[in-house]
Amino acid sequence: MLHVAVVGSGPSGVYTAQSLVQQDRVPVRVDVLDRLPCPYGLVRYGVAPDHEKIKSLQNNLRAVLQDERVRFLGAVEVGPGGIAPEELLRWYDAVVYCVGAATDRHLGVPGEDLAGSWSATEFVSWYSAHPDAHWNGALSAARSAVVIGVGNVAVDVTRILARGADELTGTDMPGTALDALAASQVRDVYMVGRRGPSQAKFTTKELRELGALPDAEVVVDPAELALDPQYTDPSGLPAVNRRNIEALRAFAERAPQGRERRIHLRFFLRPDELVGEAGRVRAVRFERTAPDGRGGVTGTGAYEEIEAQLVLRSVGYRGVPLHGLPFDERGGTVPHSAGRVLRDGVPSRGEYVAGWIKRGPTGVIGTNRPCAKETAGSLIEDAPRLVAPDDAAGRPDPLDGLRAAGLRPVPWSGWQAIERAEAALGASLGRGPVKIGDWGALLAAGRGESPA
Ligand code: NAP
Repeated sequence: MLHVAVVGSGPSGVYTAQSLVQQDRVPVRVDVLDRLPCPYGLVRYGVAPDHEKIKSLQNNLRAVLQDERVRFLGAVEVGPGGIAPEELLRWYDAVVYCVGAATDRHLGVPGEDLAGSWSATEFVSWYSAHPDAHWNGALSAARSAVVIGVGNVAVDVTRILARGADELTGTDMPGTALDALAASQVRDVYMVGRRGPSQAKFTTKELRELGALPDAEVVVDPAELALDPQYTDPSGLPAVNRRNIEALRAFAERAPQGRERRIHLRFFLRPDELVGEAGRVRAVRFERTAPDGRGGVTGTGAYEEIEAQLVLRSVGYRGVPLHGLPFDERGGTVPHSAGRVLRDGVPSRGEYVAGWIKRGPTGVIGTNRPCAKETAGSLIEDAPRLVAPDDAAGRPDPLDGLRAAGLRPVPWSGWQAIERAEAALGASLGRGPVKIGDWGALLAAGRGESPA
């Protein structure tokens, strides 16, 4: 019996566990470890709360984590302050790192650190009740917000800013976030791309959703869209970009609706500086760009300022090095071959990667399935070299090792207790389940203790 640790319980970790137990060549047991007491990674802490359909993927992930060959162990940190990778390899035959891309990319322009400038991931973590979130919710002081980037995360944060709090009470968003959104004075949200509309990274369903919000309208300038030659002739574009152009054209043809909030979609503007006043962001200065004919843009030397008291930088995630594992700084990933971790170009015995830490932060949740399958396939192929013959029986349970190392893992039953606590919290507020975002309260619920 092969005993595998999967580090990370987001989609890539759970799909890896699923691929491992569903193959029939080698009997496998899998422990899915997570530094948080709650499973599901970005499905719980990244998918927007008003995207209930995508959120319901949790049910598929749950079924895997409840499989009798799979064991969830939350509150297990791997790395400094927790368990070192080499220690894990003493307890398990193989370890698959599915730790995602835990931080955000930087813009590298002056003013990025001014008060009022946040990464979109900080905003997302806050409204998703991530226990590490440290956003102060300053929405009541902002009338105008700039979101830099035109990917799906940018669309998510733009949509949340443009929705009224009453539209979100049916979600599991924490009360603090709902109250802050209710007090929000933000009326204009500018979502800004440095390239043209035909190169935007968002997907059409998400884009169209912006045009279907009850209290907000989308504003686009047809003349700005037309700076992109492929806006005029989208025939050579991949289907998703062509559909995006159709959706933008439909927005451009709409008459103004006089709604309470406006979402301005802007293109060909490259961030040059976040302009401050008394230490707070006041505006974003952009350089106007022009298509270079090769899918990129060049600066034109013309500048434009957009007033904003809140800036959300949504320019992509980035993987962080895991102490004890090799790391490719350029791509923010762990070097690998078909999921086998490479140390100095050579596959390292028993170490694997899947998901964003393997291939970078791109693709939708489903992209993780084939990615996880490839890694699990490599691991199963290596199985004869992973289990020492005298190891097969009578080996201590790694859980004993984790406890001996001073950790107190939260088991699946502990996670179920957290779910009950969230349902009880919601019921006390007259809502459905409401997420708990406090480390102490999560751990107390997960370990069956009263909160400190
Ligand atoms: P993304 O799709 O890579 O988009 C990043 C955006 O930031 C792009 O518009 C990019 O422009 C821009 N950008 C990068 N560096 C910049 C700079 N220095 N200055 C200005 N703009 C810059 O990343 P994401 O939005 O974080 O999404 C990550 C992944 O999660 C994607 O695969 C996404 O589809 C997925 N996701 C999906 C959903 C959903 O399905 N509903 C929701 C959220 C996230 P360039 O193209 O010019 O580089």
